[in-house]
Amino acid sequence: MKTSELFQHKKVLSFEIFPPKQTENLAAIYQTVNALKELAPDFISVTFGALGTKNNQRTLDIASTVKHTYGVESVAHLPSSQFTKRDVQALLTRFKQLGIDNILALRGDDITEHKEKKDFHYASDLIEYIKSEGDFNIIGACYPEGHIESVSILDDVRHLKEKVDSGCDQLISQLFFDNDYFYTFKERTELIGIDVPIQAGIMPVVNKRQIEKMVKMCGVNVPKKFLKMMERYEYHPEAMRDAGIAYAIDQIVDLITQGADGIHLYTMNNPYIAHRIYQAVNQLLIAS
Ligand code: FAD
Repeated sequence: MKTSELFQHKKVLSFEIFPPKQTENLAAIYQTVNALKELAPDFISVTFGALGTKNNQRTLDIASTVKHTYGVESVAHLPSSQFTKRDVQALLTRFKQLGIDNILALRGDDITEHKEKKDFHYASDLIEYIKSEGDFNIIGACYPEGHIESVSILDDVRHLKEKVDSGCDQLISQLFFDNDYFYTFKERTELIGIDVPIQAGIMPVVNKRQIEKMVKMCGVNVPKKFLKMMERYEYHPEAMRDAGIAYAIDQIVDLITQGADGIHLYTMNNPYIAHRIYQAVNQLLIAS
C-alpha cells in the first residue's frame, strides 16, 4: 500500500527504527517492532546507512518483515550517495521482489570528494530515476530550519519544490524542537506550491549527549527552555527521559491542533517512549 494515500483519511502516525549493527543479531529489533505494532502505527520506516553505517540488506529485510510478518506497512530508506545507478537498479529489483512499495529517497550524507563522478547528485535525481523504474510511492526529506548545507532557507525550499516536482508523493521533516520553525516552513511550502502531505519529525530526548550530536549534525535550534531542561536533568536519566517525553507530547499536541498532516516519531528503537507518547496523544489523533 502507498503510504501517501493514508493522508486523505487521517492524521498519520509513523515510527522510525534503525537496523542493528551488522555484527548484532536481529532479535532485538523484532522485539521492538512487536512492541511498536501494539500502537497500530500507520507505517514503520527503516533507516539505511544513517550515520555512516551500511545496512543495505538488513534495511530491506527488516522492512519486508515489518510488512509481511508483523502486518504493518513499511517504508525503506534509500540514500543514493553510496551507490551507482546500477546498484540502485539492483536494489529496486529487490524492493519489488520483497513487495516494498514505499521508499524514502535520500541523497545521504556520505558525499565523497569525487562528487562529480556520482550518478545521483541530489535526492531529486534519485527520485526521477526511481519513478522511471516502477510504481513506487516516493517520500522525500525536508528541513523546517533549512538543510545544514543550504545557502538560505529560501534556496532550500526552492530545491524542495524541484524535488517534489521530480516525483515526491509525501515529505517527512527533520527533527525540530521549536514548532514555530515548522509553521513558518509550512507557509513557505504552501506559497511556493508544494502540495504533498508533510509529516513533522519529532525526536524525544533521552540524554544530553544524543541531542548535542543531533544539533551538530543537523544544525537545528535548541530553545532556551529545552536547554534548561537538559541542564537541569543531565545527571538524572529517568527524570530526563520523563521531561523529554513531556516535551515531545507538548510539541505533538500543538502540531496536531494546528493542523499538521501527521507525526513521524524518531523512536531510537525505544518502544517504551513510543508507548508513553502514544498513550498521551492517541485520542487527539483520532479526533483530528
Ligand atoms: P537533497 O534533497 O538532495 O538536498 C541536499 C542539499 O542539496 C540541500 O542543501 C538542498 O538545498 C541542496 N540541493 C538540492 N537540490 C539542489 C540543486 N539542484 N542545486 C543545488 N543545491 C541543491 N541519511 C541516511 O544516510 N540514511 C537514512 O536512512 C536517512 N534517513 C533520513 C530520514 C529523514 C526523515 C531525514 C530528514 C533525513 C534522513 N537522512 C538519512 C539524512 C539525509 O540523507 C541528509 O540530511 C542529507 O544530507 C540530505 O539528504 P536529502 O535527501 O534531503 O538531500
